Amino acid sequence: MSKAVNNMNMGIVEPLERMKQLSHYGNLIDVDKNMPVTRYYRSGTEMLRMANVYLNEGNHENAFILYMRYMTLFIEKIRQHPDYGSVKAEVKAINKTIKDEIMPTTEKLRTKLLAQYQREYEQFLANKEAERMREQERERHRQRELANRKAAGSGNVPSLIPANLHVQMDASNQPTAPDLDLLDQVVYPNDFPTGTNRSNLPNSGLLLPAADASADKTTNSLSKPAFDRNQKPQYNRTDSLLAGSLRTVNVPGDTMDVFLKLARSNTSNNIETCGVLAGHLARNELYITHIITPQQHGTPDSCNTMHEEQIFDVQDQMQLITLGWIHTHPTQTAFLSSVDLHTHCSYQMMMPEAIAIVCAPKYNTTGFFLLTPHYGLDYIAQCRQSGFHPHPNDPPLFMDAQHIHMDGQAKIKVIDLRR
Ligand SMILES: [Zn+2]
Ligand SMILES: [Zn+2]
Repeated sequence: MSKAVNNMNMGIVEPLERMKQLSHYGNLIDVDKNMPVTRYYRSGTEMLRMANVYLNEGNHENAFILYMRYMTLFIEKIRQHPDYGSVKAEVKAINKTIKDEIMPTTEKLRTKLLAQYQREYEQFLANKEAERMREQERERHRQRELANRKAAGSGNVPSLIPANLHVQMDASNQPTAPDLDLLDQVVYPNDFPTGTNRSNLPNSGLLLPAADASADKTTNSLSKPAFDRNQKPQYNRTDSLLAGSLRTVNVPGDTMDVFLKLARSNTSNNIETCGVLAGHLARNELYITHIITPQQHGTPDSCNTMHEEQIFDVQDQMQLITLGWIHTHPTQTAFLSSVDLHTHCSYQMMMPEAIAIVCAPKYNTTGFFLLTPHYGLDYIAQCRQSGFHPHPNDPPLFMDAQHIHMDGQAKIKVIDLRR
């Protein structure tokens, strides 16, 4: 994660800078020359599907990021693909959509977001100024108290020293007479920190002033907040794609049982069965709703999809996005074979949250996997071998999915395209 993004998570930054960071996220898309070029067009369709959901739900930042990614992909990055020339018709259609719809929408979003960032920034500056004024007032108060005490004579001073003041000890371990210079450092009761005292920390200019609740508990009326502390900065929302974490994938609880029934005759003949997991986006979570079983050719340790375009047709009709795949291991345990790793790589490159469910009925186990995002995904994308071949196991190439949620209430639906 870049430094700029870290800063952004810490606090308000200047509106144009925030916009720049958002655009930077919109540029984060790369084209892998080894991925069939048509996959990018499929992925683009689903990207728009998600962007529209974000837009309708008012999540303008995520909508903006996805529209930007779409434009970055199809105006710029896709040209690097060696098969770019073979998709002229698609390119033409997409360029028209970009010009007529996506660009104007993105510009509107940019204006809206800039205005929102400007409002938040002004609020931030006002809060900061209010905090500075309060600090000034506290300081004047301290000076007045100090002057009063000095005027009243030093005889009263010791009783005013709080118990936690570090008092110099002499060799006999008796407190020495208080050094009058120390008075400048005396913390008066009203100024006591109630926990970690952030108001004494140097202001970095990025942290929201006195954002800690402890400041609210102080009895000193001077530190009472003069502004609304409920003003939460927008970018701290966890539902932003800026957070960089995987969105939750909700899996209907009956998915494995339903799929194993679909696969039963294959399984009894020691043949693998595979299906596509599809669904939709809502409130920044992904929901698997359908298993689509394509026409396929299975063996005891592999399963190949045929006529992929039939899957896409169904998905387009139902506005479904691809969220992963499911397959059986009739006689083996649940794991991802080298061929499975390559299959999953294309899913995960297009959708970082895509999962691979492996059902191992003989062992009565199920695996929910994905390639390790910071190692396995890249490693497999670079691997040029095909068929079954060994990969090094360390560091791990795949892992158990941590971002899934089993939904016992939801029921999976089946679209069976097999003859
Ligand atoms: Zn497998
Ligand atoms: Zn490989």
